[in-house]
Amino acid sequence: MKKNDLFTVTIEDMSEDGAGIGKTDGYTWFVKDGLIGDVVEAGVTKMKKNYGFARLVRIITPSPFRIAPRCPVARQCGGCQLQAMSYEEQLRFKERKIRSNLSRLGGIPEDQIPMEPIMGMEDPWRYRNKAQFPFGRDKDGEIVTGFYAGRTHSIIPQEDCLLGIEENKDILEIIKNFMKEYKIEPYDEAEHRGLVRHALIRKGFATGQLMVCLVINGKKLPRAEVLTERLLAVPGMTSISYSVNEERTNVILGREVTHLHGPGYITDRIGEVSYRISPLSFYQVNPVQTRKLYETALEFAGLEGGETVWDLYCGIGTISLFLAQKAKKVCGVEIVPQAIQDARENARLNGMENVEFFVGKAEEVLPEQYERNHMRADVIVVDPPRKGCDERCLETIVKMQPRRLVYVSCDSATLGRDVKYLREHGFELTRARGCDMFAWSVHVEVVIQMTYCGDKAKNKG
Ligand code: SAH
Repeated sequence: MKKNDLFTVTIEDMSEDGAGIGKTDGYTWFVKDGLIGDVVEAGVTKMKKNYGFARLVRIITPSPFRIAPRCPVARQCGGCQLQAMSYEEQLRFKERKIRSNLSRLGGIPEDQIPMEPIMGMEDPWRYRNKAQFPFGRDKDGEIVTGFYAGRTHSIIPQEDCLLGIEENKDILEIIKNFMKEYKIEPYDEAEHRGLVRHALIRKGFATGQLMVCLVINGKKLPRAEVLTERLLAVPGMTSISYSVNEERTNVILGREVTHLHGPGYITDRIGEVSYRISPLSFYQVNPVQTRKLYETALEFAGLEGGETVWDLYCGIGTISLFLAQKAKKVCGVEIVPQAIQDARENARLNGMENVEFFVGKAEEVLPEQYERNHMRADVIVVDPPRKGCDERCLETIVKMQPRRLVYVSCDSATLGRDVKYLREHGFELTRARGCDMFAWSVHVEVVIQMTYCGDKAKNKG
């Protein structure tokens, strides 16, 4: 077979990134947009020695899990990989993914993984409190904004993403009209020219407060006062700012933010705790599920009130403050200085005095505090970005021998890798539970509890 040849295949499995997997004569195919249970006609896109890639051409027999995507650009847009899969099946897919990574990479037999049922969403639409819209021009020269197509930087126009808030489209309309009227150019990535790169929009779901931060390729936003006034017409608008990013980079935000209106942040609430959130700070995108996630982390921490707890990769101190409600003392570590400013302010805002925050890399701050200042830990919580924990961080955790480790992960593959290391150094996996924060995408959040069992329980390789 060669490129563009057509063939029939039954989809028997799904890859981690949401492609359908099927076989013809023992040769494995990854079929984009194919769904487990489908029989499809597929067209070859690329062939390797042992496996090949194909695209869905025609559905011959639809999978029982197949549904009609709600979004008109679901197939082109890179955001949702699973819009044609029923929500219940997505949850099963995600649970399988966690289990398989903990087993394959973590080295635990599948039937010995202490998995509890995944926490799904009651309403899987319009759950995101944040979106970052790129700006550009379409073929006809019109200013467009939307989302990048999968694995590319071409913009699929879409201002009312069904995962996002309804206000997005009004805000984008205001920005686009303002740009047209004052001849402000969208950024052209290839030429590294033009001004407006992205609009970051965030909403506090519990408070209704809105934030807009424009990312610009230039030092100043002309006629900023006009844009500010127009944006203030949107109910809830609280913080308006811009961030300068003049680099040729995929990183969206610049390093600093200039405030045009408001206090420089918005406030939101999760459970009993209030949080202020600045444009550069990380904040979970799905507040309804975040509450379940944090409650699970707190439950897995098993606090009784007398513990010293470390919260590594703490962001604006969200998990730290949740834990501080039940612990003697919580120490948070985070690399972004603005997030730590937010974290300290959040502790004050909630009247919590038993928390302390450190700016720096977890893999540097923790060893330093342990070795130099002899700081100890009864429980350690980590919530790293996708790449997982640095080995130096894990090494120190092992030396500190906390009773329990709670690992919150947004990538079960790196979690599996880190679990393997920790199991080889005296920790046992004692609880695991998925939490769906990202319906219609292949991503899934997972919380695990590991218990320190000491040398006797070391699982050698
Ligand atoms: N626990 C927080 C944030 C989790 S996201 C919450 O639930 O909101 C991961 C965080 O780790 C981000 O805030 C990121 O800035 C931070 N980070 C990334 N690399 C780091 C490192 N090496 N050391 C400490 N923090 C890091």
